[in-house]
Amino acid sequence: MAVPDSRIPAAPPDPGARSVASLPGVGPALVEALARLGLERVQDLWFHLPLRYEDRTRVSAIADLRPGERAQVVATVEAVERGFRYRPQLKVAVGDGPNQTLLLRFFHFRRSQAEQFQPGMRLLCYGEVRQAAQGLEMVHPQYRRLEGEEPVALEDRLTPVYPTTEGLGQKRIAGVVAKALALLPPEAELELIAPALCARHGLSSLREALLYVHRPPPDARQAELALGRHPAQQRLAFEELLTQHLSLKRLRAAVRRRRAPSLEGDGGLRRRWLEGLPFRLTGAQQRVAREVLTDMAAAKPMLRLVQGDVGSGKTAVACHAALAAVEAGYQVALMAPTELLAEQHLRNFRHWLQPLGVEVEWLAGKQQGKARRAAMQRVAEGGAPIAVGTHALMQEGVAFGRLGLVIVDEQHRFGVQQRLTLRDKGRDGERVPHQLVLTATPIPRTLAMSAYADLDVSAIDELPPGRTPVQTIAVSNARRAEVIERIHAACAEGRQAYWVCTLIEESEQLRAQAAEAAFAELTHALVGCRVGLVHGRMKPKEKQAVMDAFKAGELAVLVATTVIEVGVDVPNASLMVIENSERLGLAQLHQLRGRVGRGAVASSCVLLYQPPLGQLARERLQVMRETNDGFRIAEKDLELRGPGEVLGTRQTGQLAFRIADLARDAALLPAVQAVGEVMLARHPREAERLIERWVGGAARYVHA
Ligand code: ADP
Ligand code: MG
Repeated sequence: MAVPDSRIPAAPPDPGARSVASLPGVGPALVEALARLGLERVQDLWFHLPLRYEDRTRVSAIADLRPGERAQVVATVEAVERGFRYRPQLKVAVGDGPNQTLLLRFFHFRRSQAEQFQPGMRLLCYGEVRQAAQGLEMVHPQYRRLEGEEPVALEDRLTPVYPTTEGLGQKRIAGVVAKALALLPPEAELELIAPALCARHGLSSLREALLYVHRPPPDARQAELALGRHPAQQRLAFEELLTQHLSLKRLRAAVRRRRAPSLEGDGGLRRRWLEGLPFRLTGAQQRVAREVLTDMAAAKPMLRLVQGDVGSGKTAVACHAALAAVEAGYQVALMAPTELLAEQHLRNFRHWLQPLGVEVEWLAGKQQGKARRAAMQRVAEGGAPIAVGTHALMQEGVAFGRLGLVIVDEQHRFGVQQRLTLRDKGRDGERVPHQLVLTATPIPRTLAMSAYADLDVSAIDELPPGRTPVQTIAVSNARRAEVIERIHAACAEGRQAYWVCTLIEESEQLRAQAAEAAFAELTHALVGCRVGLVHGRMKPKEKQAVMDAFKAGELAVLVATTVIEVGVDVPNASLMVIENSERLGLAQLHQLRGRVGRGAVASSCVLLYQPPLGQLARERLQVMRETNDGFRIAEKDLELRGPGEVLGTRQTGQLAFRIADLARDAALLPAVQAVGEVMLARHPREAERLIERWVGGAARYVHA
């Protein structure tokens, strides 16, 4: 241990960096519960913000209650009734004046609880007021018995409601947060953004913002708070967005410091391939391919995202890049999110490249034993120029001899973390492969600026010629028979159709069952048509056999789960029915619909829905009917669902913002970028500390 130098005053230990265990009264059980919420250090608690607030600063008279509001009332029990019709329920009528009655309704209750309510008893209740047939009511209100004439203690601040976890009640978590807040250092120590920058961008005090959001005064603008648009919340959102921006930039800088092989082939393979193609690349494909090749020719690793709508021809751009790498004597890894899609790439690439004498190796998760070992060996020795596969490519043990280019067909399913894992496979000394990410759903500019700040972006903004827009209609499930009849008619004309079963929440097994039920129904109804079935529980071989039969036109109708969402390419299929379309998000609907409209015939898509439609679902279906433009759909999607869903990163946690919401806070991004640039250039230590503060032990973002 170093001996402290007595001439230099020791830096004050940062209270935010201490473990939550150092707080008074926080024992191991609480530490463990907090850890489940990702709260390990004192500063994690500072930034653990309320989900919403309850106003217990006043008591409302029952006469003033309005449906939809949350309110606190003091009232006396007038009558108690236990009912058992349909399901057990407990109804407690309370009043605070003549003819001023409110019904408290409970569906889950213990007997002792039911017996506890006695006429004449005074209660303090808090809950959401609802309009019921007989008058106003609260369902499962919070309540407390008031003893005799006990006065009601009103809060002097709005009561925060925190995100929490099982076994950790609101009172306790609010208690620890309060203890953590007591350790907030003075502004000058807490603030990591230089004063000049704060002044230039109008950033208010961080300390005050934190104190405000944890304990808003009674006169706070509650509507604004509820929407996360209060200036105090915006101040914190700014800091969170800034941190994410900095961490992605840092990641990118770290990668850029490495070296990559300069991949400049002689163009021979590419020329022969282009000559053999049955089509000419579109202008957009050519432009993007040039951008990619320019990157690959440099000795710095490429990190490029190619975005292009469904069917825009990203595969051809990927193949073009792959051939350039192969010409230069390097290997290429191509990864896809699902086995089905990976297999499709495999077949495409083999079809294109075998005539050129370029071998394409298959490396998938389910492949076992000898075949796998042999494939891995060829990859390791550098003998296989191109390897296609799923995540298995990234698993331990798959080493590449001379990996020069990694292509990730992302479709939003890979996170930054995964992008890095594979890149590490190619490390040889300091050299890393170039990286190309393909993504199908166009990413709105705001998202590209933040979520993909570590990548350069190219857009294939033109579809191959001859595509006809898909006609889309929404039809209630009540008219299912008509829809089936329509398929029957279409198939009689030699057209092919997809019937997509969607059950999003359920397990793969339930999804398979739903598909099997639809399969049985259609097989029965579509006399004279051959119907096939594919779902995620089938073996890859079986799936492939069915897909091949459909592609060959031997099946008229393919019943499928959303396994066909990505990449499946059968140009003759011109009709698609999507069941329970009201449950799907826009991005997914757009992906699915992209399976039709690939040939020259006019295609149509029927969105079957189960009424009644909620507001959101209605809007989504409306958007789908109005447009085929992936960009507009993506923007609408962002507006309706928020970025976590749009990017599909819920699972990976890559974009698990605590406070910020990219759709709501997009207006902050230009300033975030500006501040970020100055900080990286002039205040790298503060930038580092900011990342440490927000990322810390919970590792929400990726470290380079
Ligand atoms: P996505 O961008 O959705 O991955 P694909 O690469 O699967 O699209 O291409 C969709 C279809 O369009 C494929 O059948 C492909 O062969 C075809 N295609 C690609 N580029 C062109 C082009 N320039 N002209 C005509 N057809 C093309
Ligand atoms: Mg594709």
